[in-house]
Amino acid sequence: MTARLIDGKAVGQKIRDQVRQKIAVHTAAGRRAPCLAVILVGDDPASQVYVSHKEKACAEAGIKSKAFRLPAATTESDLLAHIKILNNDSSIDGILPQLPMPRHIDRVKVISAIDPGKDVDGLSFFNQGRLLWNLPALRPCTPAGVMELLKHEGINCSGKQAVVIGRSVLVGLPLQMLLLHANASVTCIHSKSTNPEKIAKTADILVAAAGVKHLVTSDWIKPGAVVIDVGIHRTDGGKLTGDVKPDDAMALASLFTPVPGGVGPMTIAMLMANCLQAYETKL
Ligand code: NAD
Repeated sequence: MTARLIDGKAVGQKIRDQVRQKIAVHTAAGRRAPCLAVILVGDDPASQVYVSHKEKACAEAGIKSKAFRLPAATTESDLLAHIKILNNDSSIDGILPQLPMPRHIDRVKVISAIDPGKDVDGLSFFNQGRLLWNLPALRPCTPAGVMELLKHEGINCSGKQAVVIGRSVLVGLPLQMLLLHANASVTCIHSKSTNPEKIAKTADILVAAAGVKHLVTSDWIKPGAVVIDVGIHRTDGGKLTGDVKPDDAMALASLFTPVPGGVGPMTIAMLMANCLQAYETKL
């Protein structure tokens, strides 16, 4: 079997186009454009690249963006005060603190300081709590992007065996919840799991979000499985690769998300969709 690749770039672009068209309708009716505030603390090079990608995506969608690039020495209380100002600014619809934060800043405190209606990363207690209850809310972008890819491919999760590798608050846990709400039977593999490959091999839908380069090899993949690779790593040659060994997934899976061009473009597309949702709920 040779897997078919899922084109996350195309699906993500479709979502971004829809967002742009909806915003154009609002602005044509005389409303102000949505606005996203991105807060970057410190000078982590990868975070700087991610922030500039977000600014570019916003510009393309018709979303205003304001990037606040704060020095690495910014104190937690200064950052919290900054968020309070943005919470009270009615011209700001979304607030996104770029993670990871420097060590001296407690990310949980920062995320929970954001007005839940502006929490476009969907990570606050409020939005994660509503996810648990399967109520409308801002959903975390990467897990929401994975679900959109499955939907786009016409995969009905109901009754399927889904295995998620990873249990982070950012990806693994919310994705497990979304898959459960889509009526999959969900199993989690994490760093303390024994015989992970045996568990993974039971999956009709296998999602790798462990942050371990090429962790998933042939031994982990059931023939015909849908394999979603969330991981992002640089090879020694400077190319991007994922948590899944691509040749092994191509040989065994029915569908596979490449890295790059799979889940990555969906994350940014869902961020744009969340900005629109945050803006529209205020109208
Ligand atoms: P994380 O480090 O917070 O969590 C990793 C999880 O994987 C943990 O729950 C851990 O228990 C589990 N894990 C670690 N080693 C394991 C192993 N050997 N076997 C089984 N489980 C193991 O990472 P994260 O923020 O969830 O991100 C995971 C990966 O996804 C990273 O590579 C990250 O760069 C990538 N990522 C990609 C996107 C995207 O847009 N494509 C977005 C977010 C994260």
